[in-house]
Amino acid sequence: MKILMASSEVHPFSKTGGLADMVGALSKTLAALGHEVGVLTPLYRGLRERFPAMERVDWALRLPLGGQMIEATLWKLPLGQTETIYFVDQPEFFDRAGLYGEAGDAFADNAERFLFFSKCAAYMACHFPWQADVLHLHDWHTAPTALLVNHHKWREGLRTAPRVCLTLHNVAYQGQFIGNTFGLLNLPWDYFHADGAEFYGGFNFLKAGIVYADLLTTVSPRYAREITLDLGHGMEGVLRKRAAALTGILNGVDYGEWRTEDNPHLPHPFNATNLRGKSRNKLALQKELGLPVEPGTPIFASVTRLAEQKGMDILLPALEEMLAAHEMQFVLLGSGDPAIEQSFRVLAERFPTKVVAQIGYDTRLSHRIEAGSDFFLMPSRYEPCGLNQMYSLRYGAIPIVRRTGGLDDSVVDFNDDPLHANGVKFDELTAPALANAIRKALRIYADKELLNLLRRRGMTADFSWEQSAHEYLSVFQSPTV
Ligand code: ADP
Repeated sequence: MKILMASSEVHPFSKTGGLADMVGALSKTLAALGHEVGVLTPLYRGLRERFPAMERVDWALRLPLGGQMIEATLWKLPLGQTETIYFVDQPEFFDRAGLYGEAGDAFADNAERFLFFSKCAAYMACHFPWQADVLHLHDWHTAPTALLVNHHKWREGLRTAPRVCLTLHNVAYQGQFIGNTFGLLNLPWDYFHADGAEFYGGFNFLKAGIVYADLLTTVSPRYAREITLDLGHGMEGVLRKRAAALTGILNGVDYGEWRTEDNPHLPHPFNATNLRGKSRNKLALQKELGLPVEPGTPIFASVTRLAEQKGMDILLPALEEMLAAHEMQFVLLGSGDPAIEQSFRVLAERFPTKVVAQIGYDTRLSHRIEAGSDFFLMPSRYEPCGLNQMYSLRYGAIPIVRRTGGLDDSVVDFNDDPLHANGVKFDELTAPALANAIRKALRIYADKELLNLLRRRGMTADFSWEQSAHEYLSVFQSPTV
């Protein structure tokens, strides 16, 4: 199959979260399975310098955006035999310090930036000499492409453009703009109504994608159900109408990157049959972060965006309670909401020998934290898929997760299924429920046999991308409903 993806971020070129990991890994896996894959993404600042092998494509992008004509150039970088990354070079839109904003504020022209990018994706899907069978869109930034391609098919006939699949990575982020923004699409206004791209008087990018894509997927089976019930952030009704076209596919893990042996980020290699290296990584982590070096003290960790979604409001009081009463350490690596960042700094000041709060974004440190910690905390309010719980399973850090979305689909609690248990789950979104789960973890920690059993199970669980890639392929080939 020939698959063209369009995404606002792709690892290793740009990343603010799980979206980048997913697009980078899925495209690589599909290519490794022998499919031809192109990935279209913006040329952000510094990429040409970081990837000098990039070449300019002799193919012009000159597209209307409302009353303006915007020009861009296209660049390409082959990756392996059958994958090519294409970059849209439009410096006014994309040569900036951030992907979506700066200093916590979204760019004022994000609608223009991503509508232009969506237009490039649609134009490429319909007119580029290399013609894809499927156009795979991701999240709100490229969701309007589904409408543009749909319109193209109405005008030119169905065979003139690929089928369109939209993956919803997080339905909370929708790209909701004022109604006039719709004019930038240069499409007839008859698409702008309650069953189309309009949402409460505004132009909702994600809704346009949900309504007009041929196929819809989201990143876990449980989240696929949840967004049609109560976690759809206003899209529940629209998604229920399209439920027959919606499939939940759990994201995979790039084990080439997230590996416990031969990993340049880890001081000591280890695996499920040799956990000594894990203990050494724990001591190295305590030393590196300035915590008391105590092999017998359990380390709890979190590596996360500091956002409301991640349940930090229940994590802070639960930690206060547990740290005051128990021998345990807590390590945070995170950045985001300045108020949450500050709360963790205060927690670290209150428990200087027990808590380290590293405010920032640091991939290498995230590997060392996963490898050195005993438990990994993810008390998310909602979690479309979540990757960190799967990384922590592989790294022998037992995940403690709230029963929601992909966390529920990837972690098994002892009470639910003792034969397959690999973590701890709790239900209620409250600090006492989380504190209870931490207490359960402390009991597991005290029982070394059980601890190592759960650890080994987690470490040998297989969430590789191949399985998920096959599921995407069957969706790409499924009949349109
Ligand atoms: P989301 O996409 O909602 O942020 P995921 O768990 O799906 O959550 O993916 C988060 C990704 O970002 C993971 O690869 C995680 O390791 C990484 N990450 C998040 N915060 C940080 C941080 N402060 N430093 C390093 N990596 C981080």
